[in-house]
Amino acid sequence: MRYPIVISAYTDSSNDLLNRQLANFSREAGLEAIYLMDKTGLVLASSNFDTQQSFIGKNYGFRPYFNIALSGKRGEFFGVGATTGRPGYFISEPVYDHLGNVSSVIAIKLDVRNLQKSWEQGSERVFVSNRDGVIVLSSNPTWLYKTLSPLTEKQMAEIASNRQFGGKPLSTFAWEKIGKTAVSIEDNKFIYVSAPAKRLGWQVHYLLSERRIFERATLTTFIFGGALSALLAFATFLRSTRIKAALLASQADRTQLSATNTELKNAQEELSRTSKLAALGQLSASVTHELGQPISAMRNYLAAAKLDKEMESRNVWEKLNMLVDRMENITKQLRFFTKPGDEKLENVSFRNVFTDVMALVEHDIRAANIDFETDICSSSVLVRGNRLRLEQVLVNLIKNALAAMSSIEGAVLSIVIREENNRALISVQDTGIGFGDRKLVQLQEPFYTTQASGDGMGLGLSISAAIIEEHGGELIAENLKNGGARFIVSLPLSSNVG
Ligand code: ADP
Repeated sequence: MRYPIVISAYTDSSNDLLNRQLANFSREAGLEAIYLMDKTGLVLASSNFDTQQSFIGKNYGFRPYFNIALSGKRGEFFGVGATTGRPGYFISEPVYDHLGNVSSVIAIKLDVRNLQKSWEQGSERVFVSNRDGVIVLSSNPTWLYKTLSPLTEKQMAEIASNRQFGGKPLSTFAWEKIGKTAVSIEDNKFIYVSAPAKRLGWQVHYLLSERRIFERATLTTFIFGGALSALLAFATFLRSTRIKAALLASQADRTQLSATNTELKNAQEELSRTSKLAALGQLSASVTHELGQPISAMRNYLAAAKLDKEMESRNVWEKLNMLVDRMENITKQLRFFTKPGDEKLENVSFRNVFTDVMALVEHDIRAANIDFETDICSSSVLVRGNRLRLEQVLVNLIKNALAAMSSIEGAVLSIVIREENNRALISVQDTGIGFGDRKLVQLQEPFYTTQASGDGMGLGLSISAAIIEEHGGELIAENLKNGGARFIVSLPLSSNVG
């Protein structure tokens, strides 16, 4: 660095002008501080010269970023301010005299608290560990300065000599890794993703409480390759826009709500669900868009490859084709989220919905080797809605019922369609494993699934719930006394819809 003002002021006996210049610069650049040190680390001028916590006269010769800059390189360091006690990111540069020798060091300190505050306010959980495994930034302030694994003597000595954490006790972080994809912290289970942050060898750790989202991501990585970065981008995106927007909205709502606690809680849950769905919509739009082209290219290659006898004889062609089908299925499911509610409503008969769905799932029902009972009302049971979407709901419910019965002997699937109290009802009942004490809201969270990776995306119920909501209806889930579950779709009968 060769700023004449810095050099001349440094050679001047009074640093008054420089102090003020630094203060201006720091204000404009949004820095916590910018300061100039001599070759011993003594602060000669500083932007915070006129504050109580002025750095002037302090000596930071013990900080590694000072020594690195003194040796002619840029230094970077994260630490708790020795003077302020506030954590910050320090960047230092050497200052050269007119002969080209390092004459002093200039450093800036960035305040990291804003970043941290935005995390604290967000509902997601993020923390960042440094090269030693010490948590240096965290959405949960009580996790700060904990170590992910015990430090060696050498690391402890170095941290002490740098006064990196201002003498704060560095206790071990009470977390337990469950496999590669999950962690348990303070009795809460999270899906866990971590990625290097490049600078300083830091690692960003991102926690999601949706149980299986990461397994979905692994599946996606397998299929799409490199989609992990998309997940992280998604996480960042979620953090930066949706969560913030949802939070702002929820905060505005909250101030207005003078309702009871339960109402407030419901509103918040709904908000977080909608914001997740909205984020999912954005993600789905980009994923389906990005994958549309490569998938159709693969179809073309496959069509060409079918001519290759060797490929065909080894079943390669068929296997590849199945994989492409699967990818297409996934994008089809995702596509649902990208344009909800833009179809026209018509009179739809539940009976016809049932007949069409049977054609789609007949094969699965037969393959499941179960008893199948139906009780279908003889009238047409009309509702206002979109037929394809209502069919999608019934397909999802039947597929879930079959999945829940896959390990049960003598299982029975029953479907009932009837009219009751001016409502059209479809009930799908199974004698499967039931859903225990989990609530429907939990089951219908996007990506929530208990199915093995590759079998379920955890989107069936969230798609179904969204469709039923669009139709002004209700989805009810109940466990049956003798085992199994019943899902009931209830919509207003068409004559009752305006
Ligand atoms: P997926 O079927 O892909 O897992 P869904 O959103 O359709 O996704 O369902 C989410 C979860 O809800 C299932 O993984 C399962 O744990 C539970 N579930 C849904 N339907 C049933 C059912 N009929 N019986 C028991 N559990 C069910």
